[in-house]
Amino acid sequence: MEKFHGKGVYGAVAIGRLYIFKKKEVQVKRRKIEDADAELERLEAAKGKATEQLRSIYDKALREVGEANAQIFEIHMMMIDDEDYNEAIVEMIQGQGVNAEYAVAITADNFAEMFSSMDDSYMQARAADVRDISNRIIACMNNSKSLYSHSDEKIILCAGDLAPSETVSLDKDKVLAFATAYGSSNSHTAILARNMNIPAIIGLGRDFISRIHDGDLAIADGFSGTFIVNPDEETLSVYRQKQHEEEEKKKLLQELKGKENITLDGRKINIFANIGSVDNIGAVLLNDAGGIGLFRSEFLYLESSDYPTEDAQFKVYRRVLESMAPKKVIIRTLDIGADKQASYFHLEKEENPALGLRAIRLCLSRPDVFKTQLRALYRASVYGKLGIMFPMITSVAELEEILSLCSQVKDELAADNIEFSDNVELGIMIETPAAAVISDRLAPMVDFFSVGTNDLTQYTLACDRQNPNLERFCDIHHEAILRLIEFSAKNAHENGAWIGICGELAADTSLTEVFLRMGIDELSVSPAFVLRVRDAVRRINLS
Ligand code: PEP
Ligand code: MG
Repeated sequence: MEKFHGKGVYGAVAIGRLYIFKKKEVQVKRRKIEDADAELERLEAAKGKATEQLRSIYDKALREVGEANAQIFEIHMMMIDDEDYNEAIVEMIQGQGVNAEYAVAITADNFAEMFSSMDDSYMQARAADVRDISNRIIACMNNSKSLYSHSDEKIILCAGDLAPSETVSLDKDKVLAFATAYGSSNSHTAILARNMNIPAIIGLGRDFISRIHDGDLAIADGFSGTFIVNPDEETLSVYRQKQHEEEEKKKLLQELKGKENITLDGRKINIFANIGSVDNIGAVLLNDAGGIGLFRSEFLYLESSDYPTEDAQFKVYRRVLESMAPKKVIIRTLDIGADKQASYFHLEKEENPALGLRAIRLCLSRPDVFKTQLRALYRASVYGKLGIMFPMITSVAELEEILSLCSQVKDELAADNIEFSDNVELGIMIETPAAAVISDRLAPMVDFFSVGTNDLTQYTLACDRQNPNLERFCDIHHEAILRLIEFSAKNAHENGAWIGICGELAADTSLTEVFLRMGIDELSVSPAFVLRVRDAVRRINLS
């Protein structure tokens, strides 16, 4: 028996035979060619085929994981036609008289290296994409039917890494789970996996693949990120039991649909859901959430190659509001910066990006960008029940500036005879210790607080949330954090505001009673956790 530890990106347990996914070796040899035009024709034909394949992968992704997640394949189609990329290939074929496969492979290496050396993490991620499309073009030139193949049996798919196109091409009916040596939880692959509901573990270590064998029995525990190969009978039965319990829990939880979030002694609480895209609304409705407590609007920006226009944003916000009406939808304004980078913002490299020009700081430094978003939000407000919340607040002055920009936007809309609702709630995230400590000053200025425990933890405990080596120093139940939440709740209520929690801690059912006792009014969690938290609430007696 051997255990590997990685990061679970989708919580579930799978037990099965593992299959090592090998990318079909794309053997590219340098050949001298006589007829450059014929070679260019081969290249064009392969590009056409590759685009066709990508279009059908895009359609599949669109059906299975929604538009936002499918977009990566549109980007791939665009990359195939990228002028610089194509010029480099054609120049090699014509200038050096080499075969097209070789020119594509070398160009892919050069571009990937260039992307990897960029400071911007978004651009760095493009390195995998350029290799992915280039391998596809080469495979098309060699008439390979597919980049990989696997058996019909249901398997746990293991790989060094998986390109987004490979993840989405997986036949979900055959794959029980997947486990990779590399990868990060913010990669497209991880995001796609979560949306496809496939148990997944990433970052299992560089020697992961060399230490496992096709056909080995394995357990993938997506909750803890543990991957066990050739488990002994005892371990196997522990996990079979766990799997069974999870299934039973899921079934039981379904019975809670339509029921109230009420404690045994009658205290009610709202349980809302967090989303990153309109595509997640299905899961929100399916899990019977009372509303949306956090729509991370920055994903709209991260998925675009340029600033999303007011109209494009309006359409998305309107769709979310209409789909959820009459339930409340709280949309958080842009939280770009730190780990969430969009290249077209051209942000300077920072020594400490988590402490840098992120979120509201960026918006206040770029009022044009901020006002575009606010206009789109207010325009959409007539289509449902909207709340707008602002991230990373640290001072009264910032909030004053924000509120004045909101008034300006409303005045401008009114002057243009554009309709907006008068009942938009405004709130702030309590995710810095500063905001919690001055919450008595901030509360009278807003309708609500929403505690972002992910950042509140990182800033209070001085633990970079991106750093996997800090786990033992980062006590998510630390008394300091709980005290800051309690203090903020008291100040919110004393000033007529309500308070919710939208960070990951909201889903921690070992704290549900603590939060209820603090007077927390709303917990906003991933859609899959809504019924679990409802269950916890309904078992609590506060009297
Ligand atoms: C948080 O910080 O807790 C939060 C909800 O926001 P994000 O995780 O998007 O920073
Ligand atoms: Mg945050």
